[in-house]
Amino acid sequence: MKILFIALLPLVLFSSGYRLITEKTLNYLATHPSLNSSLNTQNGALLDPIVTTLRPPSSPGAETVLAFLREHFRKLGDWTIELDEFQDTTPHGPKDFKNLIAFKTSSSHSRKLVLAAHYDSLVRKDGDFYGATDSAASCAVLLWTAQVLDDLISEKFADSLEDFGIEFIFFDGEEAIVQWNGDDNTYGSRHLATKWEQQMMTAGNRGSRLSSIELFVLLDLLGSAEPEMVSYSRTTRWAYDHLSTLEARLRSSKLAFSNPSKNWFVETKGTSGPHIWTQIGDDHLHFLQRGVDVLHLIPSPFPQVWHTLLDDKEHLDQDSVLDWGVLMAAFVAEWLELEEVIYANQRDEL
Ligand SMILES: [Zn+2]
Repeated sequence: MKILFIALLPLVLFSSGYRLITEKTLNYLATHPSLNSSLNTQNGALLDPIVTTLRPPSSPGAETVLAFLREHFRKLGDWTIELDEFQDTTPHGPKDFKNLIAFKTSSSHSRKLVLAAHYDSLVRKDGDFYGATDSAASCAVLLWTAQVLDDLISEKFADSLEDFGIEFIFFDGEEAIVQWNGDDNTYGSRHLATKWEQQMMTAGNRGSRLSSIELFVLLDLLGSAEPEMVSYSRTTRWAYDHLSTLEARLRSSKLAFSNPSKNWFVETKGTSGPHIWTQIGDDHLHFLQRGVDVLHLIPSPFPQVWHTLLDDKEHLDQDSVLDWGVLMAAFVAEWLELEEVIYANQRDEL
């Protein structure tokens, strides 16, 4: 990661419906029995296999984690899983990279909500770097989000006459092979953004696959206590504000696990913070530069353990990881308007 200053032209805001979830659903997500068993920092079923494996590009560990991610979506069922394999030139010569994409849509030309994180880990010569915040925890949060909402998403899409889609991307090669400079970083996202810009949607003549992304949410460096989350873009401020509202609701309902000295989403509604012209070098840039609306969920400042050997599961903040799971699942439930499905079916459990 590197701090960049980029003046971006304002992009056209296009937003689908967004419906706030009720207290009942928020409570359902925050008290879901699978939350702790999946995201617990010591042995969470969705976190541990990632956070205890070294996963630089082309390594056996990366293969193991990739297989785990793939198997997760295969077991959920009805997810289209794609492996985006390619070779790129690195300071250490040609290297193979693999991005994983899993998506579910209501129609072949759906506008999609994309949630992304990188699964590769940095190579450190002085010891084992497990990248717990960078970005094992983010990957696990995305896996749980998909899992806890899976049935509702399937029902929503089965009945929907609207164009909805949700897509998870797990990027390879975010970290520099030698040093964060020029093209020695974000190999996976650069490849995928370039590819999707060329790839036309087969049905409905709706433009490129890239243009079908309504909102691209990138999670990175999450899992430490007291993150300060700022808004980096005017066009996605609405999404930032929704997450901010969800966080405030979780705290006021006593459903949040963490108890920080101040709310994570630090910007006051209706204002533009000083970060609006700042972009942090990360996987989102290749999408942002092609006109995609991006919500970059990365704390500023970075966690203290950033790129040190201390970025391991022992240094994750348990409560914060659980809260990120609830926040992201709640955000997706609102974006996809999943409560319509819940109440249409008058489900007992919610
Ligand atoms: Zn990193």
